[in-house]
Amino acid sequence: MQHDELLIGTMLEGRARWVAVRTTDTVEEARRRHGMSPVATAALGRLMTGTLILASSLKGDESITLRLLGDGPLKGVVAVGNAQGEVRGYVQEPLVDLPLKDSGKLDVGAAVGRGELAVSRSLQNGEVYTGMVPMVSGEIAEDLVHYLLTSEQISSAMLLGVLVEKDYHVAGAGGLLIQPLPGATEEDIQAIESQLGQLDTGISELVAQSQSMDEMLERLMGQLAFHVLERREVEFSCTCTKDRLSDTLVSIGKEGIADLITDQKAEMVCHFCNEHYQFTLEELQQISGRC
Ligand SMILES: [Zn+2]
Repeated sequence: MQHDELLIGTMLEGRARWVAVRTTDTVEEARRRHGMSPVATAALGRLMTGTLILASSLKGDESITLRLLGDGPLKGVVAVGNAQGEVRGYVQEPLVDLPLKDSGKLDVGAAVGRGELAVSRSLQNGEVYTGMVPMVSGEIAEDLVHYLLTSEQISSAMLLGVLVEKDYHVAGAGGLLIQPLPGATEEDIQAIESQLGQLDTGISELVAQSQSMDEMLERLMGQLAFHVLERREVEFSCTCTKDRLSDTLVSIGKEGIADLITDQKAEMVCHFCNEHYQFTLEELQQISGRC
């Protein structure tokens, strides 16, 4: 059985680089954990997929957080990823439902709305750098391309897609980034644009139809010769633990903790993965002692 993975490679005899990722199982796990509607699944799935692509060039335990702060009904979409292929994320309003676009596609742009895209990089020394750019369309791939161009002066082509079935399951999800490298000619850029422009199948359908990443890449790249340099596993993975949530409880103080207690216990829920953690009265008293 196929599993999610991220591939990195070159094309046009080294004059461009690409990153391709299959995220079908990862996005399905996010959908299941958060109980999301199709349009929420598509929005978070695209953002998590784009996050994995941008995170693939990070070093060691660095991480990247992407936040879509739009005025649409989803209110906010957040994803965090690292170069080990781990990603987590959530939408503020997971049940949002909107009519399909005339094309029959989920209206991610309307669900996200317009506003700012914030990109934060957490470096190995603990420093965090955040860049903000206005969103172009809320369709996410275009917004990330715009971010890369304006904040990092890198021109790119990006495809992100999530195919949600009528029963809400994710049938296919994935993404592709192509960036010209120094030495790329005008013809190279035209060849890339023309290849991506002539695809008559969306990337999420290509992922769903392909038996392997290599097959998907051949269909995506067409006549453009490409070379695979690296393959990495990809999965939905959260960093929460009961200990970490205890530290959060310490930070809200004795009164805050007292407010959380009902029926001699309290429950904490992780935003990122929707895992529920129960704290007994005894545990809460111990935590209060650390405040
Ligand atoms: Zn979690």
